[in-house]
Amino acid sequence: MRKTFFVPLVALAIAGTSCKPKQNVETLDLNNFDTTADLKQDFYKYACGGWMEAHPLTGEYSRYGTFDKLAEDNQEQLRTLIEGLAANVATESGDALKIGTLFNVAMDSAKLNQEGYAPIQEELAAIAGMKTKEDAFNMLVQMHLSTASPFFAFYVSSDPGNSTANLFQLYQAGTGLPDRDYYLKEEHKAILDAYKAHVQRMFQLCGFPEAEAVAKTDQVLKIETALAKLQLDKVSLRDPHLSYNKMTVDELQKKVPGFDWKAYIKAISPIYEVKELSAGQLDFMKGMAKLFSTTPLDDIKAYYEWNLISSAAPYLSDAFVEANFDFYGRTMSGQTEMKPRWKRCVSSVNGILGEPVGKMYVEKHFPAAAKERIVKLVDNVRLAMGERMAANTWMSDATKAKGQEKLDAILVKVGYPDKWRDFSGLEIKDDSYWANVKRYSVFETQYMLSKLGKPVDRSEWHMTPQTVNAYYNPTTNEICFPAGILQPPFFYPNGDDAINYGGIGVVIAHELTHGFDDKGRLYDKDGNLNDWWTEEDAKNFEGRAQLLVEHFNKIEVLPGLHANGELTLGENIADNGGLNISYAALQKALQENPVGEIDGYTPAQRFFLSYATLWASNIRDQEIERLTMLDVHSLGKWRVNGTLPHVDAFLEAFDIQEGDPMWLAPEKRAHIW
Ligand SMILES: [Zn+2]
Repeated sequence: MRKTFFVPLVALAIAGTSCKPKQNVETLDLNNFDTTADLKQDFYKYACGGWMEAHPLTGEYSRYGTFDKLAEDNQEQLRTLIEGLAANVATESGDALKIGTLFNVAMDSAKLNQEGYAPIQEELAAIAGMKTKEDAFNMLVQMHLSTASPFFAFYVSSDPGNSTANLFQLYQAGTGLPDRDYYLKEEHKAILDAYKAHVQRMFQLCGFPEAEAVAKTDQVLKIETALAKLQLDKVSLRDPHLSYNKMTVDELQKKVPGFDWKAYIKAISPIYEVKELSAGQLDFMKGMAKLFSTTPLDDIKAYYEWNLISSAAPYLSDAFVEANFDFYGRTMSGQTEMKPRWKRCVSSVNGILGEPVGKMYVEKHFPAAAKERIVKLVDNVRLAMGERMAANTWMSDATKAKGQEKLDAILVKVGYPDKWRDFSGLEIKDDSYWANVKRYSVFETQYMLSKLGKPVDRSEWHMTPQTVNAYYNPTTNEICFPAGILQPPFFYPNGDDAINYGGIGVVIAHELTHGFDDKGRLYDKDGNLNDWWTEEDAKNFEGRAQLLVEHFNKIEVLPGLHANGELTLGENIADNGGLNISYAALQKALQENPVGEIDGYTPAQRFFLSYATLWASNIRDQEIERLTMLDVHSLGKWRVNGTLPHVDAFLEAFDIQEGDPMWLAPEKRAHIW
């Protein structure tokens, strides 16, 4: 049954910390600071230098920050929980038995090492045995229904043009490196060469002689490079219009010849008849269809084999796991050692049985009172955002009214879902780790396909409760704060208002702002891609946002390497709005409950110091390069030193003046939300 749940917009509530005596109030940890640094020159170093020194990078991390530390603490709690179940599988049933069994299978290194690549041998033989293009087509369907996405991918999600309905959607895919530029740009040749060596090594690990492995690697790279050329680049992918091409299956067949779409869709969804779909990136699909029809069968075999080997590698013997880490961890991110087995296995169990694990996690570790407090905080922050929108000078009343409607309609999810997903249909047993992963993939795909023909379930969660993160989803117009993030240093149950508004308050305002960033603003209150802006208001918005693009494009993250202001625009708008909005909400909380200086810092100063602490992290150069290329978020350092100079209240709070490195001239500051 579809279940909807609306959080009404209520009047400003007093933040829950108000009646606590001052001496018991949790506040900033001064050890996080480096007070020898000049905060007007490098605020990040001042606010986070102590933390960075106390948390040096270990070999298993390419970046280690506040989020990772919290995730590690959560992981210890999950370990205790999962190991407890794993030790008692003989007496357990249901989800507990599944969790325990899967962990035991994953931890059994003796069995895994003895098996080698035996768990995928049958599938490799099936690929090698393909005789016709029709066989290749059928194999593609099978792979898409389970663990891999050769050539392209499909998914089922709300229709961006009609957000209450689920829609079958195609998407560009098919490459083993995480961005097209790795295949196409000279500057990434070292990574591409390492990737080729990696592909070859993995074929050899599967028993192919060297010469054959070399030939297969060439075949794989030929197909992946052709696909990379067809893919939209990552900045274009942020424009939802470019990836939304709704049409009937008949129209798709006409527009994208060379691939039997009718047969494909019928094979993927034999029960529900798909009549309409989104073709995703249309030009990619056209080129892909041609590529599929013209590529020799022998090349496709090598390419499918590689897709299978690469998906299975983390779940096979140590030789595969280490080789996989050597490329994706060591070469691409600069990690020097793998995480210990128990951590990898906890992550894997947590990924496969996320909600059942999450249900047990919240029962043990998430106090019900926290949920109520966060809901109140969200209301305060949302009210502040509405007031700031009403007062801004650059939007017309008509667009403001639509914006307020959208803000009011945002659905808020806190802690954990009201109803839990049913995992009884997933079979977990003691055959092989890979067999379990495969059954899970099939289970997950069928779950997704089961949504076809049904209305979108707005109560569904898209993150597990134990996750240290938060999200905004534009098509359901919802924000979500899992239990995992609702703890220090984001949220202090007895915290000083200044640090809670500088922490979780900014996170809440950040997520709300996503509904109004350069991408989110393209969706209306119901989650449809529907323009609710006047032309002039849109122009004003773009002009203001452009200041952030230019500012971030100038930031040098490593000598000669600049941040990508276009790629990170949505996140930078959300950080900018998050700070301004939550700061305004703090001012209201302070009116209700005045607090003065603590440890020599004013409430405003504590707010910004608390914000900076969220982004404390150490990071390797390789990871800076990788993230600058791929990540829509700015690096931690620049979420502080790049974002704060745009915020008037920050410059005032620390008396930063013209001539100070943290200063930005008023006409260059972005004032959006
Ligand atoms: Zn964000």
